[in-house]
Amino acid sequence: QNPVPYASEQAIVAAVAAGHIKHEPAGYAGYDEYKAQGGYALLRACVDGQRSADDVIATLEASSLRGLGGAGFPTGRKWRIVRAETGPRLMAINLDEGEPGTFKDRVYLERDPHRFIEGALIAAWAVGIESIYIYLRDEYHGCRTLLEQELGRLRADPPIPNMPQIELRRGAGAYICGEESAMIESIEGKRGMPRLRPPYVAQVGLFGRPTLEHNFETLHWVREILEKGADWFAGHGRNGRRGLRSFSVSGRVREPGVKLAPAGITVRELIDEYCGGMLDGHAFYGYLPGGASGGILPASMGDIPLDFDTLQPYGCFIGSAAVVILSDQDSATAAARNTLRFFKDESCGQCTPCRAGTAKALAIIEQPRWDTALLAELSQLMRDASICGLGQAAPNPFDCVIKYFPQELA
Ligand code: SF4
Repeated sequence: QNPVPYASEQAIVAAVAAGHIKHEPAGYAGYDEYKAQGGYALLRACVDGQRSADDVIATLEASSLRGLGGAGFPTGRKWRIVRAETGPRLMAINLDEGEPGTFKDRVYLERDPHRFIEGALIAAWAVGIESIYIYLRDEYHGCRTLLEQELGRLRADPPIPNMPQIELRRGAGAYICGEESAMIESIEGKRGMPRLRPPYVAQVGLFGRPTLEHNFETLHWVREILEKGADWFAGHGRNGRRGLRSFSVSGRVREPGVKLAPAGITVRELIDEYCGGMLDGHAFYGYLPGGASGGILPASMGDIPLDFDTLQPYGCFIGSAAVVILSDQDSATAAARNTLRFFKDESCGQCTPCRAGTAKALAIIEQPRWDTALLAELSQLMRDASICGLGQAAPNPFDCVIKYFPQELA
């Protein structure tokens, strides 16, 4: 089942083609099963002219589908922007899934790998994409085998003529390569360091070409939205929000896992309705709404709708919807130290506010008494002057402890 972790790409491809290694988890739908369930019929309908690219893009816009890797950029608008650029155009699919606490992409990929591939091919048709690059988290050895296996089956029996070339690229374990421009550098074979923008990757991306960059999950929803209609997806929200979100829930709940729930659900509703409540003997104390980078909120703020834009007023964000539940047996201070150690280790080192700022802030919060005035200065500097989201978001956890958990610092 498990391929050799550090074998060369060629060795993996050859072993998969020869049937020596396989990865077919329970409940998994391969190429034949996917086609038997109507898979790739929509793609063929698009290519045959039964759907127009304008109609497809308009449906995605009406559905309110947004980038589900964390940035939340409207999907249909992104397709329009890249389509308006001069070709040749490329696509880069982010399957790096490195945000601590996030595991939704792996769960969907291991059950239904062709769904996102069909979404990618529909995007390629609508936008006019020449080649597709999939960037896969290196720790996902089983997923690599699975993708090699399914891409091999697809290439051997393409669902459409002139199918764009699809390449699978491995990451090398760096968190920062989940940032879109660092991922592009990495696919190009360079050290994964974020680029200064503008120009944006939609204009000058992979190999200098206009690039449609998407998180895996965003493409996973394309087929279902186009088949069931924009209102089906948009109609799922709560508290004035629209759409569905796949929450990766972990921590002190009875039933952790990937929970497909309405956008705008609150964390209390998520725990009670989707996770079977708190673990026995644990009382809800706080939560990380967006993995390591999205900040930490106390239980008293457990009724805020969880979605893009709703948490910003509190200095937090939902990101890739990795919700970590803390109980009265946990400490927000310990969580903040843990996340900042992670950011210090994962900083690419390109800019001083982040490289030096994460190390200095960590040294302060590892003391029994925090110098909160100095932390406030550091935090502002890192937010203002870091090149990318890692350095800008790294202060979120300790800022939240100072704001929302003062009793832990007393
Ligand atoms: Fe690298 Fe950090 Fe600067 Fe981002 S903010 S470019 S991770 S040093």
